Amino acid sequence: MGTRRSCGGLDIFRMAAALLVIAIHTSPLSSFSPEADFFLTRILARVAVPFFFMVTGQFALPDMISRGKGSGWRLWRYLKKTGTLYGIAVCLYIPIGIYAGRYKDMTVAGLFKMVVFDGTFYHLWYFPACLTGVALVYLMSRCMGIKGMSIAAGILYVIGLFGDSYYGVVERIPGIGGFYEGLFQICSYTRNGIFLAPIFLILGLRMAGETGAGGQMRPERRAAYEAGGASGTDKKRGGRGISSQSFDGLLLAFSFLAMTAEAFTLRRFELQRHDSMYLALIPVMICLYRVLLAWNRRPARVLRLLGAWIYILHPAMIVVVRGAARIVHLSGPLVENSLGHYLAVTVLSVAAALGVCLLQIRLGRRTFHCGRAWVELDGEALSRNVDFLRLRLPVGCELMPAVKADAYGHGAALIAGMLQRKGVRAFCVACAAEGVFLREQGIEGEILILGYTCPWEFELLSRYRLTQTVVDADYGQELEAWAGERGERLHVHIGVDTGMHRIGEPWENTERIRGLFEKEHLAVDGLFSHLCADDVCGAREREFTLGQARSFGLLVERLKEQGVFVPRTHLLSSYSVLNYPELAGDYARVGIALYGVLSTRQDTRRWKECLKPVLSLKARVAAVKDIEPGESVGYGLAFTARRRMRIAALSIGYADGLPRCLSGGVGSALIEGKRAPFLGRICMDQTMVDISHIPGVCPGCEAVLIGVSGKEEITAADLARQAGTITNEILSRLGARLERKAV
Ligand SMILES: *Cc1c(COP(=O)(O)O)cnc(C)c1O
Repeated sequence: MGTRRSCGGLDIFRMAAALLVIAIHTSPLSSFSPEADFFLTRILARVAVPFFFMVTGQFALPDMISRGKGSGWRLWRYLKKTGTLYGIAVCLYIPIGIYAGRYKDMTVAGLFKMVVFDGTFYHLWYFPACLTGVALVYLMSRCMGIKGMSIAAGILYVIGLFGDSYYGVVERIPGIGGFYEGLFQICSYTRNGIFLAPIFLILGLRMAGETGAGGQMRPERRAAYEAGGASGTDKKRGGRGISSQSFDGLLLAFSFLAMTAEAFTLRRFELQRHDSMYLALIPVMICLYRVLLAWNRRPARVLRLLGAWIYILHPAMIVVVRGAARIVHLSGPLVENSLGHYLAVTVLSVAAALGVCLLQIRLGRRTFHCGRAWVELDGEALSRNVDFLRLRLPVGCELMPAVKADAYGHGAALIAGMLQRKGVRAFCVACAAEGVFLREQGIEGEILILGYTCPWEFELLSRYRLTQTVVDADYGQELEAWAGERGERLHVHIGVDTGMHRIGEPWENTERIRGLFEKEHLAVDGLFSHLCADDVCGAREREFTLGQARSFGLLVERLKEQGVFVPRTHLLSSYSVLNYPELAGDYARVGIALYGVLSTRQDTRRWKECLKPVLSLKARVAAVKDIEPGESVGYGLAFTARRRMRIAALSIGYADGLPRCLSGGVGSALIEGKRAPFLGRICMDQTMVDISHIPGVCPGCEAVLIGVSGKEEITAADLARQAGTITNEILSRLGARLERKAV
């Protein structure tokens, strides 16, 4: 399918890049031809490290620089994590470094230079470069836009270039040569976090802007989505994707040829001091990255892990190969022959990395036991959905995720925790009890109760620092009276009714709303309304929605005219973020979209490239039985076998949220990648399925009710359609007794 894009291409290239880095450190072709080796290790392999920077730029940076609040904290978390990894790698290589005599005669200045710029072992400069590069880009993002950042990083790159492969050009120019000499006192090369990393980090960041961080949406598609409200443009997008793909491929070939010519010319005139940076490297990386993004592959976590471990472990394997070759007297083929050396190091590195990966995956698995029926949460999917929604909103509009109804059945504690780690600092819930629960789970920030709280529960608002919606002006008076009596101040957002006629003070009542701002014991932190026809883009719904927005805007204006300081405003929920992002205020109260699905199956399919389902629902096979023709299954003899059948009882039922109306073959489970239709009536705690066509099913096997198994998938939206309802209802009714785990 031409339209589906995922970042599997990037994952595969991570492996290739790791192998290229080994080549840089072993010079595989040096025994045969210095030119060929120069081409492989100094030109071709030079795409590897910039590629890693771009991946960081695409996946880690949007989170850190996108929104004002909490971004410094996200930066700090990234620095801590990468710093720790650097620390571990440093410790790992200290013995080898000592053996190689690298730390002899080390001065304090030398130590600084080594730790901050050069790296403590020959490939470890990459980690400090990430740290300084990311910090630098973060600082840039505080004082300029993406254009300014790109220009600044470009200038740094050019400065770096003249200290690297173009050094011969400036070496003898008086002032400039001196500048570089001084620079090289501080860092041995310019291929570091200041001159090399920022440009590629920012290029990665720009890719995230184009693709929605998850790597799926390109500018033309984004435009199509925004213009057409995501209406059936699949074919058109697919067609454009393919042509732009081959165009990118062509450009890649050209720019790579240019880079090759550039490098050989510089070499011919002996201008190079080092050879990490070329002018043509920038277009090469842009085209390469675009080609990889367009490569239609499934994301592969194993390859990602493998690439990282090969990168970390290969220098140790170089030492091992050299040592072992000497012991077994095979230095000729394994060390002196450069290709033999490269292959030996590569095989060993891949094997070692594979071992570590398997161990990591096995350890990860062992900690994951689940009982009879459970919900699995895909944190990566949630994180991508957050990135996608953030990028869709204008700068300054923050997410205020709806984690009501146990986070739409996902588990409020887990979801809110994950969101908090993504820098989310505001949440909304339906009632006081849900807010109290979040506080007890350690959730910080603003928690807005969207619904009604009884006066005898107002106590909870102040005790747990919850923000209450003022459901109308009279209710505001009740809140004021309660708070006044105790000499406290309650935090509130004022709900405004702009046509839904649910809760909220009617928007026309400016005076009554203005009165709420004058209450001594109410801190009015927000003013919001809810759009009730934003999911359909027909003429009538559009007109109504825009009318709601107009009314709300009018109210805000009137309040301002009367000298009221208008606090944070918000209108949008999931569908309006997709269909009307231009109406954004200070918050977007996203619910269903955050969980990677939409209310209907049609909408879920339309947006599936941007929103990834977070939840899977699974249960165990409890028993397997063979039944004869004429025998019945379950309550009311609702199903009778016409042939010999093998059936299984699954440990999940309607009390867990599986709709009973899916009984009798309407719905099915997935076992071992195959569909197992429900047989007879779904029971409260158990459900029988047909497994005649699925060999090898036994008690304890996993059955998937919502999620992926092999090539098959059942989405919550499929279930909703079968049950004649919307996805939101299916999810929010998932039972309290299901275990909930993040994977
Ligand atoms: C539930 C709710 C939301 C979230 O709605 P989604 O459509 O799931 O994004 C937003 N605002 C209010 C007032 C709500 O009740």
